[in-house]
Amino acid sequence: MASYVFAPPAQPALPVKGQTALFPVHRIYCVGRNFADHAMEMGGDPSREPPFFFQKNPDTLVASGATMPYPSGTRDLHHEIEMVVGLKAGGENIPAEKALDCVFGYGVGIDLTRRDLQAEMKKLGRSWEVAKAFENAAPCSALVPAESCGHPQAGRIFLKINGQIRQQGDLGQMIWKVPEMIATLSTLFRLVPGDLIYCGTPSGVGPVEMGDVLEGGVEGVGDIRLTIA
Ligand code: MN
Repeated sequence: MASYVFAPPAQPALPVKGQTALFPVHRIYCVGRNFADHAMEMGGDPSREPPFFFQKNPDTLVASGATMPYPSGTRDLHHEIEMVVGLKAGGENIPAEKALDCVFGYGVGIDLTRRDLQAEMKKLGRSWEVAKAFENAAPCSALVPAESCGHPQAGRIFLKINGQIRQQGDLGQMIWKVPEMIATLSTLFRLVPGDLIYCGTPSGVGPVEMGDVLEGGVEGVGDIRLTIA
């Protein structure tokens, strides 16, 4: 057995609904501008620019129900409610027709974004990393195995802050559907079991303040709850 110069970091993982075993997380991929109404609110034109990918680090995951501190380095933390796909198999150049065979299950996540830093990075033509991959940037619910929830293609996705609705859309509005996302991503990266994909957010993104309670959900999948201390 290998020895290490110090104890290796803990394996990031998510709970699985109805099981005691955890889902070990490898990478977190995110799809940008996968809902036309959100692409437009961000100043894009979905008829000309297809969705795209970026990553968050797996150790930025936060379990549903947690209280997290307001992040450093921003005065404009934004919420983006998203469906999350967890993979149990992977590969490269996966055909869209085979892509759903790779899916373990689905969850509900929040793609937290330091919007002010993102705007600065966009202006300078620099990477979004500081805007997307900071501590606690990836809250996510337990995953629900596809055997129990199926492969949701339509259904309400929403986010409330302190009981007030802020984001609302339907999974049917996604520009890239899950099979297309997996197929496209697998032409760029080698997908493996444990990869997560945050599927993009509907319109209505906005700021989160200290003390806010965020509650979101995806119909047929589940709910997420997060408190900002
Ligand atoms: Mn997003």
